[in-house]
Amino acid sequence: MNNESYDVIVVGAGNAALCAALSAQERGVKVLVLERAPQEHRGGNSAFSGGAFRMVYNGLEDIKRFVPDLSEEEIANTDFSEYTAEQFLDDLGRITQYHIDPDLAEILVRRSTDTVLWIRQKGLRFVPMYGVNALKHKGRFKFFAQPLQTVGGGPGLVDGEIKAVEQRGVTVRYNARAKELLYGPDGVEGVQIVANGVEAEIRARAVVLACGGFEGNREWRTRYLGPGWDLAKVRGTRYNTGDGIRMALKIGAQPCGNWSGAHATDWDLNAPEYGDMSIGKINYGKHSYPFSIVLNANGVRFLDEGADIRNLTYAKYGQAILAQPGQFCWQIFDSKVLHLLRETYRIKQVTKVTGNTLNELVSKLDGVNKEQALKTISEFNAAVMQGVPFIPNVKDGRGTTGLTIPKSNWAQTIDTPPFEAYGVTCGITFTFGGLKITTKAEVVDTEEKPIPGLYAAGELVGGIYYFNYVGGSGLTNGAVFGRVAGESAGRYAVGQ
Ligand SMILES: Cc1cc2nc3c(=O)[nH]c(=O)nc-3n(C[C@H](O)[C@H](O)[C@H](O)COP(=O)(O)OP(=O)(O)OC[C@H]3O[C@@H](n4cnc5c(N)ncnc54)[C@H](O)[C@@H]3O)c2cc1C
Repeated sequence: MNNESYDVIVVGAGNAALCAALSAQERGVKVLVLERAPQEHRGGNSAFSGGAFRMVYNGLEDIKRFVPDLSEEEIANTDFSEYTAEQFLDDLGRITQYHIDPDLAEILVRRSTDTVLWIRQKGLRFVPMYGVNALKHKGRFKFFAQPLQTVGGGPGLVDGEIKAVEQRGVTVRYNARAKELLYGPDGVEGVQIVANGVEAEIRARAVVLACGGFEGNREWRTRYLGPGWDLAKVRGTRYNTGDGIRMALKIGAQPCGNWSGAHATDWDLNAPEYGDMSIGKINYGKHSYPFSIVLNANGVRFLDEGADIRNLTYAKYGQAILAQPGQFCWQIFDSKVLHLLRETYRIKQVTKVTGNTLNELVSKLDGVNKEQALKTISEFNAAVMQGVPFIPNVKDGRGTTGLTIPKSNWAQTIDTPPFEAYGVTCGITFTFGGLKITTKAEVVDTEEKPIPGLYAAGELVGGIYYFNYVGGSGLTNGAVFGRVAGESAGRYAVGQ
């Protein structure tokens, strides 16, 4: 093993890594993918994802380039909307409070459509995300800006990308954890690994780090995100523990971005500590909260459930839940909206109580001040703007008046039995801080100089997300910059 050498080593086997491998391979170089996880747990968070890609598109005609076999009925019953580059840039800017690196934002947005098409050309297939990103109202679906996902969701994405790299002669090695970068006077020269308990060195002309953030590392979470984050549940892989970031910082790479920030969402109160593939493509997410009111242990609301469409609020609400007493809350629904709940609410492993009266429901909310909960519901009901129609698939402006914490859209009185409540806590998805890269995905040092032979993509890159996240952009981010990193590494390896 010690004599092995490659042109490009890619560390990780998630979406960013596999796009980097595919792109490097297009340069005709010899590529090795190192995956820390065993084969059955390969693919990192990408395998846990819904496979949803946010991209720029110009209505139905563009969608047909990705899904040529849309049925007449689907076309007739669906408003796919459109999503312009300006809207995507605007969402990224607004959501990150304009901290996002503007050059990286431009690349992410302007190369989004072309990169998702490139993935399709590698053999993957896409379908519309009915039910998740499009709700039906008066017989017609309407999408909110993010219509497509890979066939088979995240597992389908990773299986398809692994198949694509292997068909093109890339070697994928499992149980192979990168520990350190080999670094000499001319830059990065390879990787030190531990594979099945045995240490080895593998030489390469270039290395792409695409091995995730530090969400799976309880100690780093507490150190960088702050108190309480040690107790958050991890929505995805256990293998992203910050190795790539640590290795690069050790040779002088520059830390960048929102190190105290993370993508974190409403997640079932009794979900396991890490993501659980055994429940299949469905997961423990509880993202239908825009149709609920959310009460904490004190029996009070603490966030605007309808502040914006789900895709633009869910990634910051996990942190809000983490800050509540006992780190939990209950989402309360009445029967008027139960048909709108996602399928993740229907899994067997769910923390749910029901009641035929509000008194009965509230009496079953573990750990909640019951008297205050009933008072909050009754004050909320009195504040709903009854004159504004409820329209679930657009921001309907049906809010509340006079409440200290308003609900801005989709406000419905909670008054029609049966009632349902779901117990949730904070589930962390990925961390925002990481390495600084150039527009060519070169990792830079603290003097802004590229470290020769070192590239990075995906979650471990800092400078993209701050405070919040735009739904479906994580996979696009990994794919766009994975592709750029693979191209740069491939070119560097052949001396271009
Ligand atoms: C439940 C869930 C649902 C999601 N849904 C979506 C969605 O629908 N759309 C979207 O855009 N985003 C979604 N996301 C976010 C998205 O999954 C991530 O943003 C994206 O997958 C990150 O890709 P990545 O390649 O950077 O990291 P990952 O996919 O996590 O890959 C990292 C890889 O590195 C490996 N690794 C770690 N350390 C080492 C090491 N030392 N040596 C070798 N290998 C190592 C890991 O095993 C893994 O293979 C979701 C996330 C979760 C958890």
